[in-house]
Amino acid sequence: MRQSKLFVPTLKETPADATVASHVLLLRAGYLRPLAAGIYSYLPLFQRVIRKVERIIREEMAAIGAQEFFLPALHPAEIWKESGRWEVMGDNMFRLKDRGGRDMCLGMTHEEIFTAIARDELRSYRQLPQVWYQIQTKFRDEARPKSGVLRVRQFTMKDAYSFDLDQPGLDKSFEDERRAYCRIFERCGLSYVAVDAHSGAMGGSASTEFMVRTDAGEDDVVHCASCGYAANVERGESRGPSSAAKGGVAGPTKAFPTPGVKTIEDLARPPHGKPPEQQLKTLVYWADGALVIAVVRGDDELNEAKLQTASGAQVLRPAHPEEIQAALGARPGSLGAVGVRAGEQEKIRRIFVDRTLAGLSGMVTGANEDGFHLEGVDVARDLAQGTLADLRKARAGERCPRCEAGALDVYKALEVGHIFKLGTKYSEALGAQVLDAQGKEIPIVMGSYGIGVERIAAAAVELHHDADGIRWPASIAPFHLSLLPLQQQDAAVAQAAEKLYEDLGAAGIEALLDDRDERPGVKFKDADLVGLPFRIAIGKKSLAEGKVEWKARGDAQAELVPLAEIVSKAKQALGKAGAFSIVG
Ligand SMILES: [Zn+2]
Repeated sequence: MRQSKLFVPTLKETPADATVASHVLLLRAGYLRPLAAGIYSYLPLFQRVIRKVERIIREEMAAIGAQEFFLPALHPAEIWKESGRWEVMGDNMFRLKDRGGRDMCLGMTHEEIFTAIARDELRSYRQLPQVWYQIQTKFRDEARPKSGVLRVRQFTMKDAYSFDLDQPGLDKSFEDERRAYCRIFERCGLSYVAVDAHSGAMGGSASTEFMVRTDAGEDDVVHCASCGYAANVERGESRGPSSAAKGGVAGPTKAFPTPGVKTIEDLARPPHGKPPEQQLKTLVYWADGALVIAVVRGDDELNEAKLQTASGAQVLRPAHPEEIQAALGARPGSLGAVGVRAGEQEKIRRIFVDRTLAGLSGMVTGANEDGFHLEGVDVARDLAQGTLADLRKARAGERCPRCEAGALDVYKALEVGHIFKLGTKYSEALGAQVLDAQGKEIPIVMGSYGIGVERIAAAAVELHHDADGIRWPASIAPFHLSLLPLQQQDAAVAQAAEKLYEDLGAAGIEALLDDRDERPGVKFKDADLVGLPFRIAIGKKSLAEGKVEWKARGDAQAELVPLAEIVSKAKQALGKAGAFSIVG
């Protein structure tokens, strides 16, 4: 490709609202342009990157026998109502009506649609297993789109679905996908960690997330360097606080006035002076239409995903102040669970108490009367109506749950893939069954497997860039190398560049020939910004000696290489860097 014919609108200034590296560089280097919040136009360079990521995904899907489909993005509401997710997806789902007034939506994921095909078409265990996938546009109405293509409302996903006869079959399909994902990320130049994760609205038993460590990510990962234990902080366990949990003096519960106290910190200050680790934090949630209470230690944070797991709720949100007032008779700031009855007929359905609180006494909690607290709370005695559960967020420095030696590290990470063992949740909801060898109808056992295509590209930029621009992994770079004639007006230079451009093309190398009449400094700067993995520069002086400059994007110094050897050198370097498809 000739740069004079390629649309690459680079920017000198960093766009004001861009903070993370991938957002800044993909805008500045002319890969992306925004259309609206969380909606981007992909310019030619980015489209080439996306095509290469997709090619790697297709090769690895083919290697495990997955078959490519292409399903609609526009769905009738009925099928989402059948699975129960029309409500579950809430405001995240883009909804619309057709001209007949029928409810429709834009697909966020495709479990329902693939399962419906399986239901209508698969009849016998002999047709299993099946692994189906597509590369498709998805829509999610994100509350706060940001960080360029990292958090968007329209994106491309490879989503795959496995259909098996039984659990061992699902285990094998899941393992095939897991390995394929590892190869995809490795080939795309991403270092990642595979973590235990919360299944969220997907349901099912087990799930693994693939996370890239970067401050641009919005997930927190807990990780033990000693044994390799890693989990999303939503699910991450620990052996509890590093400083042993400790209550105050045991005794009967007693109310005391706390006018104006609204927070844990207020109660920690004089005149009360109750340290956070001696307080109980009481939180009220709305869970599938009923109220539940969660109690954690004052210095801990509630992990909502863990409360969702403990309560089994499909939809969970903090209760509104009016709902809390109606149920407990007090406002947030003076809430507690002591003396609160829980059950089907009560205002509070269930009470969950963090398991690290077991055995503590002398604790302080709200009295459910504005301006009053209780002291002398004994968790075993006064919160006996509660269920012990893992509710707290694991923190850095706490002891690893799997090994004796390790301490947990907590860092920011970006999710690039997520795979789920769904089991029979969707096949039962939608009635997808086959006849087994005994002639009995049984629900198909399913898995689902997603990869964010743009996220892979953006994660690669987060991991591979410097002050001058992007440093693409060779496998997904939009072109293999920049070819820079440094004096475009010099006939010998221009001619040598043309000849080399042809020779490189004939050798299967994608060169971006910068044939613009620009100063060498401008060409070097733009080439660094765009970030192709290698660069060949042709200057008048070295050309007279039959040589050209060769440089990898990350190298400090260029190397002079005889013109006659440059094509084979480029081919070798690119091959080593994984630039070429494994299937040719
Ligand atoms: Zn460990």
